[in-house]
Amino acid sequence: MDDPFKNNVPDPLLSGDTLPTFKFELEKSQGRVDGGSFGKEATVEQLPISKGLAGVSMRLEPGVTRELHWHATAAEWAFVLQGRCRTTVIGPDGNSEFDDFDAGDVWYFPRGHGHSIECLGDKPCQFILIFDNGYFSEFGTFSVTDWLGHTPKELLAKNLGLAENAFANFPKQEAYFTHGAPPPEKIPAPHQGELRASPQTHKYRLLAQEPYSTHRGGTEWRVGQAQFPISATMTGVVLDLLPGALRELHWHPTSDEWQYVVNGEISVTMFGSQGRYRIETLNAGDVGYIPQGFGHSIENIGNSAARILIAFNTGNYQAIDLTQWLAGTPDYLLRDHFNQAAETIQQFPKRDLFVVPT
Ligand code: MN
Ligand code: MN
Repeated sequence: MDDPFKNNVPDPLLSGDTLPTFKFELEKSQGRVDGGSFGKEATVEQLPISKGLAGVSMRLEPGVTRELHWHATAAEWAFVLQGRCRTTVIGPDGNSEFDDFDAGDVWYFPRGHGHSIECLGDKPCQFILIFDNGYFSEFGTFSVTDWLGHTPKELLAKNLGLAENAFANFPKQEAYFTHGAPPPEKIPAPHQGELRASPQTHKYRLLAQEPYSTHRGGTEWRVGQAQFPISATMTGVVLDLLPGALRELHWHPTSDEWQYVVNGEISVTMFGSQGRYRIETLNAGDVGYIPQGFGHSIENIGNSAARILIAFNTGNYQAIDLTQWLAGTPDYLLRDHFNQAAETIQQFPKRDLFVVPT
C-alpha cells in the first residue's frame, strides 16, 4: 500500500551535512553459499540508506530449490537474469499457482504468501529478488524446515496424522536450499490432487513485451500494477542506455528507487537538498538506492550498452523530469531564476526528454 506520509519524519541518516553512500557491491559480497548455489543480500545491514527496499541476488544449481518459505514484512518482486526456474505460491484463500520462468520474466508474491523457487532444466539459473522493505532479511524469513524442525514431534504427529517417530529424520534446522533431482518438465498436480488456481497471476513476461518507451539513447520496459494487477506495491523497470546516454535529472514523488546494474558502467548522481550532492560509479553487479523525492540521474559512462534493473516501492510509478518541469514553466521565471538572457532560456528543451542521447 502506498503511504504518502512514510517519509514525513526526518531520517537521521539523511539529516547530516553530507549524504551517506548509496552504493553497495552486491555481487562482490560473500552471501550464503551452497556449492554453486548462493544468495547475496543488500538490506539496511549492508546499505543503511536503503530503508524502503532490499534485494537479493540468487543463483540455483540444477536440482536445487530455495525452500518453501514466507516473508513476514515484505512482498517479493523478482526478475530472472538467466536460466529457467519454477515457483510455487499459496495465498490465504488456499489458492495456489505454479509457474515456469525464463530470462526476462518477473514474479510478484504478496507479503506473507508462502512460496518456493527451484532451478529448471540442466543449467543453473540466476535471478534478482527485490523486497518492498529494507529491513527485510532473506536470512530471517520463515522457512518450513525451520518451523517443523522446532515444533514438538507430538504436536506434528497430531497435526499431520502420523506417528511421532515418523518425524525422527526430518531436518532439525532450516535447510534454506534443498537438493533433489531436476523437476519434471510438466508441472504436476499439487499434493491435494487438483489445483485450486489463484485468481490473479503472479507471472509477467516483462522483456517479452513491447518496450514501454523508446528513445534515441535507450529503451525502457516498465511493469506496474496497471500491467500486472497483483503487483500492488512494486513497479519494475529494465532500462537500457547506449554509451553516453543519460537518464536525465528527475525525482519520484511517491517511491524510493532500488537499482541493480546488469551490464555496463554507470554514473549515478544524487541531490539531497541543502547543497548536498553525491556521485557514485556503479559497475555490473552493484546496487544503488535513491530515497523518495531525492533528485537523481543515471549516465552510461562505459563503452558498451548498459542495462539497469530498477524497482520502486509503489505499484503506481510517478516521476518528474527536469526537462518536463522547465518546459512546463513560463520563460520569465526561468530567466529570473538562472539570471540568463532570453536567448539562453529559449534553447531549453520544450518537452520531456527522459533519456538524452550522447
Ligand atoms: Mn522469498
Ligand atoms: Mn529514478
